[in-house]
Amino acid sequence: SQLSSYLKSMIRSLPDHPIPGVTFRDITTLMDDPTGFARVIDGMAEPFLEQGITKVAAIEARGFMVGGALAYRLGTGFVPVRKKGKLPYKTVSMSYELEYGTDELEIHVDAAQAGDRILLVDDLIATGGTAVAAIQLFRSVGAEIIASSFIIDLVDLGGAEKVRAAGVDVYTLLQY
Ligand code: 5GP
Repeated sequence: SQLSSYLKSMIRSLPDHPIPGVTFRDITTLMDDPTGFARVIDGMAEPFLEQGITKVAAIEARGFMVGGALAYRLGTGFVPVRKKGKLPYKTVSMSYELEYGTDELEIHVDAAQAGDRILLVDDLIATGGTAVAAIQLFRSVGAEIIASSFIIDLVDLGGAEKVRAAGVDVYTLLQY
């Protein structure tokens, strides 16, 4: 569509970054464009306007760029999902596999509870490892992620299927 071509034209693609063979999709150029930013937030919000979402949860750090605006648009609270050691209060954590080694995500123990209808957001889904760890994190405190939404899906890496297999719907605006 015209909208996806416009949004894609605002994303900077960096060949061989951070390693040879990988093309990094840089969304800072899209976020810096007033029309692009507005269309991204409107497009991500649209399916959830009438879904009774209680919180938007976003993954550090690029997810924060869309998460705050989306929570405001949907009239919900905002929950940060952070890398290990950043949150000040009591946390629960979940480790997940990276290409080399593991990493850990955390939320505050009281950030969500049973009865919440949470929308998980990030800028991009690749293998889905980060999103699945975030889903498990909320389940560990008894809260339900009802859907996940990403600006970009790197389709060949299979992340969307992995998240759906974990029982959570996936919405993406742009596919590569
Ligand atoms: P996954 O866990 O799905 O393999 O990786 C997704 C995470 O890595 C997201 O938090 C995302 O911000 C980051 N990421 C991986 N590749 C890219 C990329 O090409 N562009 C951007 N903007 N983020 C990426």
